[in-house]
Amino acid sequence: MTRVLFATSEVYPLVKTGGLADVSASLPEALCRLNYDVHILLPGYPAAIKTAREAGCRRKCRFRIGQYEVSLWRTQLPGTAVTLWLVDCPPLFERPGNPYQNEKGQDWWDNAHRFELFARVGAMMAMGEAGLNWRPDVVHCNDWQAGLIPVFLEHCPNRPGTVFTIHNLAYQGLFSHETFRALGLPDSLWHWEQLEFHGQLSFIKGGLVFSDRITTVSPGYAREIQTPEFGNGLDGVLRYRQSRLTGILNGIDAEVWDPETDPQLTFHYGPDHLENKARCQAHLQRELGLEVNGGPLLGFIGRLVEQKGVDWLIAVMPELLKRGCQFALLGSGEAGYHEELIKLARQWPDQMSLTLGYDEGLSHRITAGCDLFLMPSRFEPCGLNQMYSLRYGTVPVVHAVGGLSDTVQDPEEAGLIRANGFCFSEASAQALLGAVTRALGYFRSRKQWRRLQENGMAADYSWKQRAHDYSDLYQSILKERE
Ligand code: ADP
Repeated sequence: MTRVLFATSEVYPLVKTGGLADVSASLPEALCRLNYDVHILLPGYPAAIKTAREAGCRRKCRFRIGQYEVSLWRTQLPGTAVTLWLVDCPPLFERPGNPYQNEKGQDWWDNAHRFELFARVGAMMAMGEAGLNWRPDVVHCNDWQAGLIPVFLEHCPNRPGTVFTIHNLAYQGLFSHETFRALGLPDSLWHWEQLEFHGQLSFIKGGLVFSDRITTVSPGYAREIQTPEFGNGLDGVLRYRQSRLTGILNGIDAEVWDPETDPQLTFHYGPDHLENKARCQAHLQRELGLEVNGGPLLGFIGRLVEQKGVDWLIAVMPELLKRGCQFALLGSGEAGYHEELIKLARQWPDQMSLTLGYDEGLSHRITAGCDLFLMPSRFEPCGLNQMYSLRYGTVPVVHAVGGLSDTVQDPEEAGLIRANGFCFSEASAQALLGAVTRALGYFRSRKQWRRLQENGMAADYSWKQRAHDYSDLYQSILKERE
């Protein structure tokens, strides 16, 4: 049985700011079904420690790292058989706010120290030095927060294999040279071929330079990040490591996201009995104070940040509202976008609903109740919402980038036989409006719309196949290291 340590800074349902949390819960579970022994390593945030306490768990071991007393709690990821280790270090992790920022939305001043300690614990566990009688064959590190693990393991004899997964190259964990010195990292690492990046310390380069394999979350994004346009300055490193880089599309939790059984919905439906989808829509329109009129109802869920193309969305909304479209928007992010959206919602109270904040239940009801789902992201490593929408018979309109172009097929490219949504290539609000306009043309033909919905609902977006891809990757590393 291959043992995998899965190091991540978020895991659903304990702590989530984005797609990383979803992947960190469902991929380990899918690997366990393939007979892998996967243990997740997560910082001991208050919500996670509370869950462990309530489950009657205890600390397994204690040790010192520098000035910090650290202990490890062993528990299980709620609702699964996956083992979860929590790095308990109250001065660093017992804080309000989210994993990276305080309640005012500012990065914690000591993020470098927090995630360096997290990585040191990961490396200790990897080498069997944490006082546990479990040692992994492979350490799977996710995003910059786990980027130093492969660095610490680099020169250890008999170290496990290492995989580093890029969930979003825009977040790199950049810190000053003083921080580099304060962390006591060896001077030899301050080099552009190692951790230095334009005069800063880059945590993500630890993963990119030192891991045995690099993966990212879709084949499309794997190609894009090797170009200057999408590479965020790291395209050179990624091209250099091209033979070690693969894109494996994320899966979705097909049990949590199933319109046949979803407990967040009052009415259930499936590909061969779609009637209840209209009831879900009416229910949502009532819940959000919109007119119950058969749509078209357009949805958006996500972080309100530039990446997600929120400015393009705001630019096209007045025109679409004038044409009679309704909007159900859910998200939170930058204050400027909040203000512009609030203004629009005040102007169009009967046609536009805006929920600022995070609401898991409402996200399911929007996914089920809308006709179209909009994802005009400037870039999108994988994207989960388009796959949730496809499964729920809600037709996505997407910017053809990253994982969106891997999952959404436009009738103009694929023909109606295979199409499941609408894509636009040009990075502009005008192109988004063009794609929505085309989609609305299809929406008027019940038969064509039904076909798009059925094509989307027929595909398998679960982790079943993707977990096999990760399994093959782990095995290839182990073979190489024999
Ligand atoms: P990213 O990781 O870039 O934020 P993804 O599409 O990969 O984007 O994943 C985002 C996840 O977070 C999805 O599961 C999405 O439904 C969820 N999500 C984002 N914002 C909200 C919100 N305000 N309320 C509920 N769920 C949200």
